Amino acid sequence: MKITRITAWRADLPRGRVFRLSGGRQTSSFDTTLVRVETDAGIAGLGEVCPLGSAYLPAYAAGVHTGLAEIAPQLLGEDPTAIERFNRTMDGLLKGHPYVKSALDLACWDILGRAAGLPVVTLLGGRQADAVPLYQPISHDAPKRMAEQMAGARAEGYVRFQPKVGGEPEVDILRLRAIAAAAKEGELVVCDANGSWLTHEAKRVLQAARGLGLYIEQPCLSYEECLSVRRHYDGPMVLDECIDSLPALLRAHADGALDAVNIKLSKVGGLTKARLFRDLCVQLGIPMTIEDAEGGDVVGAAIASLAQSTPPKLLFSVANAYFTVKRQTTDGAIVPDRGRVAANRGPGYGLALREGDLGAPLLDIR
Ligand code: MG
Repeated sequence: MKITRITAWRADLPRGRVFRLSGGRQTSSFDTTLVRVETDAGIAGLGEVCPLGSAYLPAYAAGVHTGLAEIAPQLLGEDPTAIERFNRTMDGLLKGHPYVKSALDLACWDILGRAAGLPVVTLLGGRQADAVPLYQPISHDAPKRMAEQMAGARAEGYVRFQPKVGGEPEVDILRLRAIAAAAKEGELVVCDANGSWLTHEAKRVLQAARGLGLYIEQPCLSYEECLSVRRHYDGPMVLDECIDSLPALLRAHADGALDAVNIKLSKVGGLTKARLFRDLCVQLGIPMTIEDAEGGDVVGAAIASLAQSTPPKLLFSVANAYFTVKRQTTDGAIVPDRGRVAANRGPGYGLALREGDLGAPLLDIR
C-alpha cells in the first residue's frame, strides 16, 4: 500500500469556558490540525494534533502546519501500514518535533485498522475493560470555586479530578485543603502544578498537604527539581511534562521519582511511541495517565484505543477534554457516559471526517 495524498485542515475547537493553568496560562479555544492520509488501495486514515496553546509543551499550532509542509511531500509513496518503518522515515526527515509526526502516525493506525477490518483498540492489544474512566480537569481558581467545580463534575458522574494548582504557595495550601475537604471517599484527586513551583515553594505546599490523600503532579519545571521535592514528600507523585523520552522514564523509574506517569500522544510522537511507553510501563508496574495535550474527535478516538487496551490496574487516568469539545469534526465521535468512554467498534477509529465543515485545506499534497 502506498500513500497517494496527504491533506490537512485547521479547525477551532471551542471549550465553552475559559480554562486556567498556573503561570497565567489560559485558553477558551484550541487550534487543532486534522490530517487525512489517502492510499492507492482506496483506504484513508485520519489523524489529529492539537497543542494546548503555545506555552504548555514545546509545540504550537503554526509549528504543526510548517512541520507537515516540511515532511508530507516526502512521505508520498511510503507504506502507511508498515508503521514502525514509517516512523523511522519521519524521524529521518525531521529531527524532534514529535507533535508534528503524531498526527501522521495516528492516521497510519486508522489505515491499518481499516485495512485489517479491525478497530485500533484491537491492534493495540485488545479491550481490557468495558470502558475507561475519565477525569475532569478543574480550572485554576479561588479555593472555594475549585471545590464548586468538583461538585459540578461529580453531578455529571465524575469521580476523578485534576485541579490545577501551581500558584502562590499560601493560596495553594488553601486550595489543597479546600479540594481535600470537598473530595468524597473513593474519589481520585491529582493536583497538577504544571511545573510552576520553585522547590522551596513546592516543599512548603507539600508539607501542608501531608495526610490530605491527594496526588501531586509535576510540581516543578525540571526533573531534578521534581526529584528534590520528591525526596521530601511521602505522598504519591505523578510526573508529566519532564518525562518526554524513554531514557527520561527509565531514569525516573530507577530513581524512584514517580508513582505514575502522564503519557501524551503528541508529547512522544503518536500512538506507535505511546504504545512503547505503555508496554514498558506495564512491565515496570508504572500506572499511566493516557491522554494528549488537547484535541478533538480523532485524538479522543486514539486515546480511547490505547487506554482501553491497557490493563485497568495500570490505567491511572484519562482526561475528558477530547470527548467534551463543543465542535464535532467527525461523525461517530466518542461520547462519554457518566464519566467513562469506550473505543468505537468499527474498523480503525470508526470515524468519518465532516470535510464539508472544515473549509479549504491548509495543505494538500499529492
Ligand atoms: Mg499534567
